[in-house]
Amino acid sequence: MNKGKICVSVFAATTEALTAQIRKAEPLADIIELRFDHLEPLEIDKFIAALPATEKKYLFTFRPRSEGGKREVSPAERRAFWSSIHSKLRDIDYLVDYEADLELPAGFDPDRIVISSHDFSSGGPDPAALFARLSTSDAGIIKIAQDAGDITGGIPVWALLEKARTKGKHLVPIVMGEAGKWTRILGLAHGAYMTYASLESGSETASGQITAGDLIGLYRVKELDLETDVYGILAGDTSYSMSPYIHNPAFKARKINAVFVPLQVSDLASFIRRMVDPRSRETELNFKGFSVTNPHKQSILENLSSIDDDASAIGAVNTVKLIDGNLYGYNTDAEGFISPLLRSIGDLKGSRSAVFGAGGAARACVHMLKKYGSDVTVFGRDIARTQGLTEKMGVAAASLPAVSFSDFDIVVNATPLGTKGAAESETIATAEQLAGVKLVYDLIYNPSETKLSIEARKAGAAFIGGLEMLVQQGAKQFELWTGQSAPIEEMRAAACRRLGL
Ligand code: NAP
Repeated sequence: MNKGKICVSVFAATTEALTAQIRKAEPLADIIELRFDHLEPLEIDKFIAALPATEKKYLFTFRPRSEGGKREVSPAERRAFWSSIHSKLRDIDYLVDYEADLELPAGFDPDRIVISSHDFSSGGPDPAALFARLSTSDAGIIKIAQDAGDITGGIPVWALLEKARTKGKHLVPIVMGEAGKWTRILGLAHGAYMTYASLESGSETASGQITAGDLIGLYRVKELDLETDVYGILAGDTSYSMSPYIHNPAFKARKINAVFVPLQVSDLASFIRRMVDPRSRETELNFKGFSVTNPHKQSILENLSSIDDDASAIGAVNTVKLIDGNLYGYNTDAEGFISPLLRSIGDLKGSRSAVFGAGGAARACVHMLKKYGSDVTVFGRDIARTQGLTEKMGVAAASLPAVSFSDFDIVVNATPLGTKGAAESETIATAEQLAGVKLVYDLIYNPSETKLSIEARKAGAAFIGGLEMLVQQGAKQFELWTGQSAPIEEMRAAACRRLGL
């Protein structure tokens, strides 16, 4: 256990609604932040007069819009609020968040003051200079929140933890946005005073905020320490990733001191240089491995010390293991794809397979089908891209639309057609086109029941959905990283929970 605290931010327009939020936050929070800038102005005095009693510490915040507040609040209104509130807080445990543009209010115990600065542009003030300025105040806690753009933009804010330690100051460093989520998860282990959380998904008070339920139950942020092995998903957009929801429960099930975090990266080379490579990195987070997905599955190859045979043949890596600062690449999509298929159909020798799509996942499918003796044809909408794949992999190419698949035993969908959202009602083939096909394999896992699965059943074909591949490729990653057997049942149950199945 580290010493950090979870601060749950709550807000509402009325006294009654805010009180209800406090009651919901109490079981999760060490500190409950009350956002007075969200209360109707006429409700403020009423709420303070009936401040709900709690065993948790309150954090009072009255933020102007320029600092992320809900409404315009003039400096005069803020000063009046702080002067009036002081005398009413005698018997409660509290902190006040006081933005750095106003002078510290007289009468407050400095240890109760969080002096804060928020910047939402990704070219904000130099964090080191800001910290130097804020640390001259008497406030016991300094909060610096910045939006850093790409992941490495967060390094200067994160580096303040070391400065705060040497100066004996409490610090709350926050890098906002999806690319800053790692700071919210790892902060407490590295000495941050607290990390902010939303009460539930959709009630975030800042971009990148994680729910208290996930910080506690999924990332176990208060249990992390400097020895914790850190893994993460490297992606251009991590917000859709299932991986944290599969790997964190697996580490928990095996009682491994490890955490799996979203790592949203645009510039991969810069991330590796500044945050991973021991010869050049500017911060040490104890990374031990990565899941890798679009758009980095191929560009990561340049950074590897070695690559296993399947990944090399596929030309894409979805898993990296770090040993002594060197990166080793694997492709567990390959194993994850083939193992459910072999279990279902047995021997593939002499079979004929049609693979839809010519992207990264299709390459892994084609490689494994061929390796196990299937005769593969790839159907792609862009024939040049499709032939680029098939010529390299020594299989046949065909262009879309296809009329019938009766010549094939196995049909694989490795396109996003059928995925939840705009493409949900689409399918690569109808029941009529699938007549005579033995097995249809859809890589889509959300929804679990795709249009293609319905068509496959109508055609009398066996069906495998993408969930099993997702779980199996994750299990293989777990085994590569930890050397232990994967808790597959927990991983499958965790994936189902996340997908609402
Ligand atoms: P990708 O690299 O972007 O490739 C997608 C392929 O689908 C491309 O060849 C693309 O054609 C084709 N495509 C896209 N929209 C299409 C359409 N409307 N009609 C026909 N073809 C279309 O993506 P990926 O990484 O290979 O992933 C493909 C799918 O598999 C995704 O939905 C992903 O979620 C799923 N997947 C599942 C698992 C699992 O564990 N279950 C693992 C990996 C991937 P162009 O080449 O013309 O763009």
